[in-house]
Amino acid sequence: FSHVDVLGTSFTKITNQELLEQLEKDSNAHKNRFVVTANPEIVLFARQNKEYASVLNTADYTTADGIGIVKGARILGRPLPERVTGYDTLLSLLKFANKKSKRVYFLGAKPSVITKIIVKIRQDYPQLIIAGYHDGYFKNESTIVQEIQQSSPDFVFVALGFPKQELFIAHHRNSSQAIWMGVGGSFDVLAG
Ligand code: UDP
Repeated sequence: FSHVDVLGTSFTKITNQELLEQLEKDSNAHKNRFVVTANPEIVLFARQNKEYASVLNTADYTTADGIGIVKGARILGRPLPERVTGYDTLLSLLKFANKKSKRVYFLGAKPSVITKIIVKIRQDYPQLIIAGYHDGYFKNESTIVQEIQQSSPDFVFVALGFPKQELFIAHHRNSSQAIWMGVGGSFDVLAG
């Protein structure tokens, strides 16, 4: 996939369908992947924070999570095919994980929210294997990383909000040969 630069962030020219197919392939081949669904706030923050910008540059796929980015890219003459949101991608991957009995680790959100979505996921995606989960208000990061590693997940969904989630993933992705994706407030949305 080729890339286009929008205000300093390098976006992957990829549709929802292409990303999904690619991640399914990557997952089946046990590739280590880092997915960023970048909204305008993320792009603007990266412009002011070099460390965060360089972390974003280590992502394997960066999608336009917001119609403003798709429109901006078009105006700049470097069009992106469509909006690819974190929430939609999360739902598609949960469906895939359910179909293929993949192992998923859920990290982030408030304790009450994570408990609620785990119940929902057990109901709605019964074949998906919950490798583990933890709320996003932990003190000891290395304990969490060890727990993720020991659970050998195929997918790790990190809902710590930006920039925390991307920094966490970039730091720890090598601990598990998994697809890692920051999903922002998606757990809250899923909890309803
Ligand atoms: N969050 C977390 N730990 C933190 C900070 C935030 O788990 O230390 C969670 C928060 O509970 C929410 C999610 O991160 O579920 C996303 O938060 P927010 O909507 O503020 O971030 P954004 O969607 O803008 O990235």
